[in-house]
Amino acid sequence: MSGRLRLSNRVAIVTGAAGGIGLETSFQFASEGALVLLADLNQAAVDAAAARVKKHFPNSQAFGVKCDVSKEIQVEALIASAVEKWGRLDVMFNNAGIMHPEDGGAHDVEDEIWDLTQNINVKGVWYGCKHAVLAMRENKADPAKGLKAGGSIINVASLVAIVGAATPQLAYTASKGAVLALTRELAIVHALENIRFNALCPGPIRTPMLIDFLNTPQKLARRLVHNPMGRFGEAVEQAKAVVFLASDDSSFVNGTDFLVDGGLCAAYVTAE
Ligand code: NAD
Repeated sequence: MSGRLRLSNRVAIVTGAAGGIGLETSFQFASEGALVLLADLNQAAVDAAAARVKKHFPNSQAFGVKCDVSKEIQVEALIASAVEKWGRLDVMFNNAGIMHPEDGGAHDVEDEIWDLTQNINVKGVWYGCKHAVLAMRENKADPAKGLKAGGSIINVASLVAIVGAATPQLAYTASKGAVLALTRELAIVHALENIRFNALCPGPIRTPMLIDFLNTPQKLARRLVHNPMGRFGEAVEQAKAVVFLASDDSSFVNGTDFLVDGGLCAAYVTAE
């Protein structure tokens, strides 16, 4: 037993870290000893998020970086700044994503909304994977610090990549299906380099993204009835699963559609 925390000395990047699942994961990463770079669209928001992490964990290292994941040059610079600061990158959490309020079905979603959604949700994940792999290939094992070659990349998909919903959000659904497929392929391509890829598939989580979208009691009730546990999930419940996927606890977990959905995808009918 080393007595080390699960992510001691590991360098981690979290995109979409100013709120929701990204912020909770940044807290969990810091609590497990990781050095965390938080990335989001707005510098002030991401700086405030990093300051909250440091306040909770005064011995931690957490910094905010402005980054729009749909711009490759910004993603490349984000990863370069982690390597410049700490010498390596061990964990990449490609979490940033949008569900646009004007998303809809095949006959009403506009091209512009479709493209915006794919640019952030799919290209953003691709760029994160591409540049994280280049950085992780340079990682040397350092047994004294508990560090290994390779790394862990976690991409956020969704349960809608696995089951269909009659409440359409087609651009979003298609984007998350793409994340699942690209994650699987990358997991196999890079397995011999000890770079693991897994897709986190959250069920509905009580974050601003979902609550803003479900802006009428009818929309809310329509979703809630399908949740076997009678509630939406909490962002921290995703974050704890991400720590597992980031750490050596999951050292033989690769290429999975990692569902954290309270059993929703397993349900036929739910209890009354
Ligand atoms: P959220 O809206 O609370 O947080 C998303 C964060 O991403 C925000 O801080 C936002 O500023 C940031 N962001 C948006 N566009 C960005 C860009 N181009 N570059 C960098 N950052 C950007 O949402 P959340 O619920 O925490 O969602 C996180 C991830 O989980 C998303 O990929 C989402 O699709 C996925 N997800 C959420 C749910 C849910 O129910 N909330 C369910 C399944 C999957």
